[in-house]
Amino acid sequence: MLYRRVAGTKDILPEEVCFWQKIEEASRRIFSLYNYLEIRAPLIEEEPLFNRSLGPSSEIVQKQMFLMKNKDETYVLRPEGTASIVRAYVENHLDKALGFAKFYYLGPMFRLERPQKGRLRQFHHIGCEAIGSYDPDVDVEIISLAGNLLKGFSISGYVIKLNSLGCARDKKELSSILHKGLKDKLSKLCEDCQKRFKANALRILDCKNETCQEVVRELDIKDSYLCPDCLKHFNQVKEGLDSLKIKYTVAPYLVRGLDYYTRTVFEITHKDLGAQDALGAGGRYDNLVKELGGPDVGAMGFAFGVERLLLVQGACLVGRQARCEVQGKSLTYLISLGQEAEREGIKILENLRKNGIACDTDYESKSLKGAMRRANDLNARFVLILGEDELKKNVVTVKDMTSGEQKEVTQQELLKEL
Ligand code: AMP
Repeated sequence: MLYRRVAGTKDILPEEVCFWQKIEEASRRIFSLYNYLEIRAPLIEEEPLFNRSLGPSSEIVQKQMFLMKNKDETYVLRPEGTASIVRAYVENHLDKALGFAKFYYLGPMFRLERPQKGRLRQFHHIGCEAIGSYDPDVDVEIISLAGNLLKGFSISGYVIKLNSLGCARDKKELSSILHKGLKDKLSKLCEDCQKRFKANALRILDCKNETCQEVVRELDIKDSYLCPDCLKHFNQVKEGLDSLKIKYTVAPYLVRGLDYYTRTVFEITHKDLGAQDALGAGGRYDNLVKELGGPDVGAMGFAFGVERLLLVQGACLVGRQARCEVQGKSLTYLISLGQEAEREGIKILENLRKNGIACDTDYESKSLKGAMRRANDLNARFVLILGEDELKKNVVTVKDMTSGEQKEVTQQELLKEL
């Protein structure tokens, strides 16, 4: 093999593509029910956009950005959607055009990770952003939307974990509680958390290391760092979810590793995923729009990882109809026998397609038997046979592959017959 794909990337082959299309179609349908508009931002952005939004100490900025240097500029292959969408919202003055706006997006993201199951270097997000409101009902709507998307993908057995980080002041308070509580226990923390203690102590909270988790739990922080306004917001979100009977678990140590998050953060996990158990995640980012030069407005969003949805869906669909049909059932397959028939055949194909009939032919000069086998493999609805005899009589033999019936029709009658 001369060339191989880059580690951590995937070829999505035709037999798999229809699963992607089903997820995409369900997403578009459900996002429309909530009045979200599709937005498509570029795959490359300027590096400072992500440094500023995600924070210089975040894992993504520290270790995972695909950088492209060009003279004095550095571009980045986007590692996530939120920063790009907010940039687009501000740059295109959508606050003036739309005011409160709801967007959804689908597309590839890039992170320089160590590839493993459920962790790729090019993966895909289905996500959304609601920009322009602090209303806790937006949080409720977004979490309900996430649940309804999962229902639309036939995925069950997930858990919604919910927390509130509070406003910027509360986050500082939380950080100072951590500094005070952990400064004499640093030696018990893992190497990464010792660095996090200096750079961004909040990230110690969602370290996966068990000893770190125990040390943090001993501090018994709960929601003590939340100011009255943020506590009220958090309670309203929980009440809203309760009123919609949406099940969730309050996860006091859920922080998400990005600087832009404020107040509500949530993560949706699934037991079938193993170590990388997050199907999707999101939260509020009430300061980001202003920080990127826009108006002072609240906002919230989330994203699912499509590859992980498919991993779980594979498991959920076992025993059900998990087969993916590559070819549609409505294909017409033309078998032209001999050079002259082939010449005539391409005209027939052109005419069928012009009239909206999906058709194909054999370009490998197979025997009649071989070509019939191919038509069967393709699940063709009709087979057309054009040989010397048919050419002489100016007809085409049409075989109905469902009934097995076969008859000759003139080219003029063909469209009607199909
Ligand atoms: P994040 O932007 O990190 O909150 O990610 C949102 C979702 O994207 C996660 O819950 C995963 O489902 C998915 N995801 C994130 N990073 C990767 C990756 N490297 N490979 C595959 N999926 C990912």
